[in-house]
Amino acid sequence: MTFVYDFEQGSKDQKDLLGGKGANLAEMTVLGLPVPPGFTITTEACRAFLEQGKEPDGLAEEVSAHLAALEQKMGKRLGDPEDPLLVSVRSGAKFSMPGMMETVLNVGLNDRSVQGLAAVAGGDERFAFDSYRRLLQMFGSTVLGLEASVFHEALDGLKADRGAKNDLDLGVEDLRELVATYKQLIHDHTGRDFPQEPREQLDMAVLAVFESWNTERAVLYRRQERIPGDLGTAVNVCSMVFGNGGQDSGTGVAFTRDPASGAQGVYGDYLQNAQGEDVVAGIRNTVPLADLEGIDKASYDELLGIMATLEGHYRDLCDIEFTIEHGKLWMLQTRVGKRTAEAAFRIACQLVDQGLIDEDEAVSRVTGAQLAQLMFPRFDAGSERVLIAKGMNASPGAAVGKAVFDSSTAVEWAERGEDVILVRRETNPDDLRGMVAAKGILTSRGGKTSHAAVVARGMGRTCVCGADSLDVDVKGTKMTAADATVISEGDMISIDGTTGEVFAGRVPVRDSLVVRHFEGDERAEDDHLVLAVERLMKHADHRRRLGVRANADTPEDAARARRFGAEGIGLCRTEHMFLGDRKALVEDLIVAGSTDEQEAALSALLPMQRDDFVGILKAMDGLPVTIRLIDPPLHEFLPDYTELSVSVALEDERGNRDSKHHKLLDAVKKLHEQNPMLGLRGVRLGIVIPGLFSMQARAILEAASALIKQGMDPQPEIMIPLVATVQELELVKADIIRVAGDVEDETGVKLKFKVGTMIELPRAVMAATEIAEQAEFFSFGTNDLTQMTWGFSRDDVEASFFGTYLDKGIFGVSPFESLDREGVGALVRLAVEKGRAARPDLHLGVCGEHGGDPDSIHFFDEVGLDYVSCSPFRVPVARLEAGRSAA
Ligand code: ADP
Ligand code: MG
Ligand code: MG
Repeated sequence: MTFVYDFEQGSKDQKDLLGGKGANLAEMTVLGLPVPPGFTITTEACRAFLEQGKEPDGLAEEVSAHLAALEQKMGKRLGDPEDPLLVSVRSGAKFSMPGMMETVLNVGLNDRSVQGLAAVAGGDERFAFDSYRRLLQMFGSTVLGLEASVFHEALDGLKADRGAKNDLDLGVEDLRELVATYKQLIHDHTGRDFPQEPREQLDMAVLAVFESWNTERAVLYRRQERIPGDLGTAVNVCSMVFGNGGQDSGTGVAFTRDPASGAQGVYGDYLQNAQGEDVVAGIRNTVPLADLEGIDKASYDELLGIMATLEGHYRDLCDIEFTIEHGKLWMLQTRVGKRTAEAAFRIACQLVDQGLIDEDEAVSRVTGAQLAQLMFPRFDAGSERVLIAKGMNASPGAAVGKAVFDSSTAVEWAERGEDVILVRRETNPDDLRGMVAAKGILTSRGGKTSHAAVVARGMGRTCVCGADSLDVDVKGTKMTAADATVISEGDMISIDGTTGEVFAGRVPVRDSLVVRHFEGDERAEDDHLVLAVERLMKHADHRRRLGVRANADTPEDAARARRFGAEGIGLCRTEHMFLGDRKALVEDLIVAGSTDEQEAALSALLPMQRDDFVGILKAMDGLPVTIRLIDPPLHEFLPDYTELSVSVALEDERGNRDSKHHKLLDAVKKLHEQNPMLGLRGVRLGIVIPGLFSMQARAILEAASALIKQGMDPQPEIMIPLVATVQELELVKADIIRVAGDVEDETGVKLKFKVGTMIELPRAVMAATEIAEQAEFFSFGTNDLTQMTWGFSRDDVEASFFGTYLDKGIFGVSPFESLDREGVGALVRLAVEKGRAARPDLHLGVCGEHGGDPDSIHFFDEVGLDYVSCSPFRVPVARLEAGRSAA
């Protein structure tokens, strides 16, 4: 096995084997750029070392051979007392990883070769001892494990003693003394001397890099960034060049264009008479890269030329590290650079214009997550703010308003034109009106899949949830922060749903130009960013196979979704049509003693629901609207048990033993379930409460009929939730067909509609062939399907044990956030096959939260669904990801 490659032997495509840094050093070497010669020890060697707990056989010999070749090329020997070859030992994994060992410079220096280095540098002892003390410091802290502060304190002590402001003020004698101090420190802390033997230094440094793969910091970082734990790191051994040999030397970093905006120009920092990390460490003040032109024009021109070469070659923004040694430029690193979301869009378009990439590639260079970032309003980072709590970043954005502690107040205040933030311990379906009215929602309990979080994301409303340091006192209309700050009703607060931060007072907000553009605001149109987004969105739309619909329950949401590019509604929930003032009617329905009473309650609801559907079908005229018949358990519409008991007790005292409260209390007792999510809900309601689904179907079809009469083209699709067996669907469907016949007879209008089902139970997946004979479409309800497949109650698990599961790596991300391909995904795939076997033109979509998640969207495209449906705000993200999946 080959463990070592010369820089001349590799390429940028070998990041797995050579690590990112090594692969790119090789690429630059092969391109003919001035890279100091060296070699790379592979990630395979690291993996072998970590597995065997010792250096793999043959590695030492290979290193010797490559070192000998390097010595020959350089005409120097490692650590030679007369004229030493010095090297850097640099870690470099496939993905850049701040948790790992960094770099040791000047390996090969010792008490004798430091004199040789001074001699060949024209007697410059200051430079030689400066280099030596750097080696001791880096070797001591990264290889021998001393705290870096041990060295910093010694250095600071010496500077204070000599009245030196910065490192450059220290003279050769000072540095000599510092070297002695450092060696003593190493001896004191490790019980042995700093290794004088150059090859021993090199070998120790290499093994230390290997071992640093498994430091706690590195492991933690990988877990956070979802980098596999078994890749290992490569080690680069690179001959030293010196930026610390005088004012005609220096070191710097640069970007080939602005990583913040994407603008072309000269971006970077330069520091004269400095080595390695002095630039980033902020030890002395750097100058802007443009100043290098005045300092060393020849090197500056060469550098700009190289930067252009790199951009042309990598066809992307690159960042680089370079060093100038007595007027000679050396390239020490390059990679495709990180960038902000804004820069990503702008750069991708610039590169298309420059002819470096095509539009497919441009679309692949930006992500839905980046687009989402650009769509949220943001707090002005420069402004002053008072943090009072931190919760979970449940739904991004920046919201400012007066704190209110119940939904009625939220609605009332919003109606008189005030911005409010609804603060609750946790929310329930009753809070929907308040959540709609509020600018943002803050809760002290619950995780990212709590009611507040899910509903807020659905509405694109900013939400911070589970800020558990806040003591929310709903009755007392105030909350108290950990630092005893009290926020009372009407006090201004600001919440950041992107970071989870909660601030007292008003923090200034900037809204998103991209959203203004999607909303049709022409003033946004000339903006560079908006132009870039628009252009890539257009191409994504052109490329994608998947349709994109929105989950929307109101005409306003439907209209917005349409402006954002939705091609229909994939999920219109009907439960909110039973809330608010209509609750009394629902209560009547539930407590109805006779069929007559029941029918009376239903016919009172009918015209209201019909109006709701007219609004939505109108807003989506000409596009399909999938309407889900009522789904949640009925008890959610009934008053609270304790409150009812109190009312009933009071009435009993007054001798009134047969009030509506009594009947309601009976109903609440009767409807109580241990596991409501597995109880009387979905299609089961439709079957058990006669007339409920027929009333909804009638409302939908009458609405459609009325619109057709007005010359419109409504396309309702009636969707039955929680079907497990085809018998359920048959019963309900027969009823809908009957209602449709009646409506056609009554109105004389021919109706066009579909009846389909949700697939959200594992049994429905297994029975998908039979179900598809009755259903004209399937919509995967992946929230319930995930819940039912894993046996996870989605209202509880995030708060109870998901934290532990994530920590232990059982999954990298919650299966409610990103579709679990192996389990839930396999079921989706199976249902697609079985369903299409029965009905080849079966229309297939998904309406769970996953419909707006980038990774899940790629999966849905792969298994051949026809569309995804997500909240209106996610629609552009889904369009872009569907385009990326196809491109
Ligand atoms: P990081 O991954 O932290 O950037 P590097 O391996 O790139 O670590 O090295 C740290 C610093 O040392 C960088 O500024 C780099 O340019 C400098 N450096 C690394 N190798 C050499 C070398 N052979 N000669 C001069 N400077 C070097
Ligand atoms: Mg570097
Ligand atoms: Mg469901």
